[in-house]
Amino acid sequence: MAHITITQLAQQIPDDAAAYEYLERMLWKGKPVCPHCGSINDHYFLNAQGEGRKTRTGKISQRRVWCCKDCRRQFSVLTGTIFHGTRVNLRTWIFVLFEMTSSKNGVAAREIERKYGLAPKTAWLMTQKIREAMANKSGQKMVGTIVADEAFIGGEPKNRHADKQFDQTGRVNQKSNKTPILCLINADTGESHTRVVTDVSGDTLREAMAEQVDKERSDLMTDEAKAYKRYAWEWQSHQSVNHSAGEYVRDRVSTNKAENFFSQLKRSVSGTHHAVSKEHLNRYLGEFDFRYSTRELDDAERMAKLIGQTRGVRVTYKRIKMA
Ligand SMILES: [Zn+2]
Repeated sequence: MAHITITQLAQQIPDDAAAYEYLERMLWKGKPVCPHCGSINDHYFLNAQGEGRKTRTGKISQRRVWCCKDCRRQFSVLTGTIFHGTRVNLRTWIFVLFEMTSSKNGVAAREIERKYGLAPKTAWLMTQKIREAMANKSGQKMVGTIVADEAFIGGEPKNRHADKQFDQTGRVNQKSNKTPILCLINADTGESHTRVVTDVSGDTLREAMAEQVDKERSDLMTDEAKAYKRYAWEWQSHQSVNHSAGEYVRDRVSTNKAENFFSQLKRSVSGTHHAVSKEHLNRYLGEFDFRYSTRELDDAERMAKLIGQTRGVRVTYKRIKMA
């Protein structure tokens, strides 16, 4: 099942109980795991399959609740995931998740709000939580041929206050209002890691790269920027191309991958989201990385990957304030 349509998904998941079973299959692979103590014993099932339970408000919930044989605490497949404590039914969540993974450029919260008849705040929070899951990387450091480059996002100079239009030397101030980002692409695996950095000094880039790459076992490819040269000895090897001399590809050394990535990224940020605040930019970058890194996967594989990443993300409403 390479390509899935939303109609097929709707047939596969006719109601909320089916949505729970779907998520259990994806996250537990048929073997419930207690999120409280990690036990994978045969847990009790508290409500019979498909049978609804009455909630406090008198509504019938199709939530499937389990009880741990070891620690005796209750749990469901939602415990410890981005779906935990949600009031939106799980079936809707799965559909929104699917729309966000299968779309090329992402889906705006407004569209989700209209399509599923949700309150604006609810739709917005759902899309933000899904982005957090997309940005939830394995934490493993990359190893391989790493193409590194930096870029500046946002803040058009013409919209700025007149006295800030020029820097001290009188040149048009191109960068001060923009947010620097660092992009690392593993040319061997096709995976990308992009994040906001405070500046593009050698020390800052070095630290950001050390957090994400096993440098001693990786080869670095960059443009001629001095910032990379200073600490290049820490890598297995370093090769650079001289863009100012019109040199873009030399042997296998190329930052073309990064440049293509950036032009796509800039289009996506301005096209889909118009303006992205600094705080939200990291989350959008995580989403973009997810799309980029999974571009060779089919819909089903991509969906499975994202569902796997819905665990271990704690999103609170306080932490992500509405834009
Ligand atoms: Zn337990």
